[in-house]
Amino acid sequence: MRLFCSFLLFLSSLAGESADWIWTGRYVVTMDPQRRVIDNGAIAIRGERILATGSKSEIEQHYQARHRLDRPEAILAPGLISTHTHAAMSLFRGIADDLRLQDWLEHYIFPAEARNVTPDFVRWGTRLGCLEMMLSGTTTYTDMYYFEDVVAEATREAGVRGVLGETIIGFPSPDAKTPAAALAFTDKFLSRFHDDPLIVPAVAPHAIYTNSDETLKACRALANRHGAPLLIHLSETKRENDECIAKRHMTPTQALDALGLFNGRTVAAHAVWVDEADMAILKARGVGLAHCPSSNMMLSSGIAPVTRMLAMDLAVGLGPDGPAGSNNDFNMFEEMDLAAKLQKVSTGDPRSVPASAALEMATIRGARALGMEKEIGSLESGKRADLISIRLDRPNAVPLYNVYSQIVYALKGSDVEDVMVNGKLLVRDAQPLTLNAAEIEAKAREYGEQVRKSLR
Ligand SMILES: [Zn+2]
Repeated sequence: MRLFCSFLLFLSSLAGESADWIWTGRYVVTMDPQRRVIDNGAIAIRGERILATGSKSEIEQHYQARHRLDRPEAILAPGLISTHTHAAMSLFRGIADDLRLQDWLEHYIFPAEARNVTPDFVRWGTRLGCLEMMLSGTTTYTDMYYFEDVVAEATREAGVRGVLGETIIGFPSPDAKTPAAALAFTDKFLSRFHDDPLIVPAVAPHAIYTNSDETLKACRALANRHGAPLLIHLSETKRENDECIAKRHMTPTQALDALGLFNGRTVAAHAVWVDEADMAILKARGVGLAHCPSSNMMLSSGIAPVTRMLAMDLAVGLGPDGPAGSNNDFNMFEEMDLAAKLQKVSTGDPRSVPASAALEMATIRGARALGMEKEIGSLESGKRADLISIRLDRPNAVPLYNVYSQIVYALKGSDVEDVMVNGKLLVRDAQPLTLNAAEIEAKAREYGEQVRKSLR
């Protein structure tokens, strides 16, 4: 019997270790610690995780897969990580652009939200957001909105990974009359999605200027009680900084630090108006940052000191922010391109934020910003199988001298061909497999009409 078993083992080693998938591609951009780029590479996947990354011949020698995806003219890369957005606002896309922030908020977004945002609106808006994100290569996104339980349900159904937090804000919102009600909602939300394979539930106080100190402290305590991250907007505008300094004689970063808000995992969006002392605090507290170049440009918020942040090795990721009035899409390729170019403009040095650094922000550094670098952000054995293929058989993709430059400056979200999250294929041949695009687009047009009428 023992002999027979050994014989079976010998046979199975000849056949190769079993895998669910083997993906092969012209280049595999791993973003691993050595930043290996593998010519004619391959990735073996079993269940939710990556088994191995290597040359095509190595992987084929060691593994036998039930499914294959061969892309001889494509780059295989880690799925892109968006560290800040508001997915359901996709249904407000283009509602009012080219306005001052206050004008936009008071005359358009706040009334439109008050009159339209329901669980059904959020469900369809999130589906639309997830559809656009997955088709352009985003595999993890970070969200702050309302009815976040519905956001989580729609995200799970799409198969996308989400770090999701219910917005806690000091005035009545579409689903909570008071911050206390939003906190109670969040408490339940954190318990419900605890240990979910795709959803990381979070606590999301909107900002320092829209919440009382008591609410902010309660948010931190709640997050720490559940071991959850805290998401917040930080120093987005000069006005936010000026008002905070006038009121508290401290910058928003100093004030939040004094309140103990950074005593735990935190992801702060924007950080446009931070100075050296602020950045030292953010570094010391291990705060993750979400740089949103499109939004900062569109709203004239300013230019975040990203070159300096990277020199200090801060955990800076990228985010498209809102798809309504502050960007209008969820395209992470655009954020990489703009993040690199905006720093070249602000520093006067074209060497600032090279393409490899921009891709890093959209992958492994973004994972670090979320505190998830052990699970996602690179193509390495043991990590979650979150990966994309980007086609190279198009005019904007040839010739190719440097893969990083090509991804950041030449390739587009629409060049993404296949997307896998957590070992599950979500997009194949640029077609969504988990969401019904025609139905979602029809519903978005319908909601567009409703929103238009509500503002008359
Ligand atoms: Zn935002």
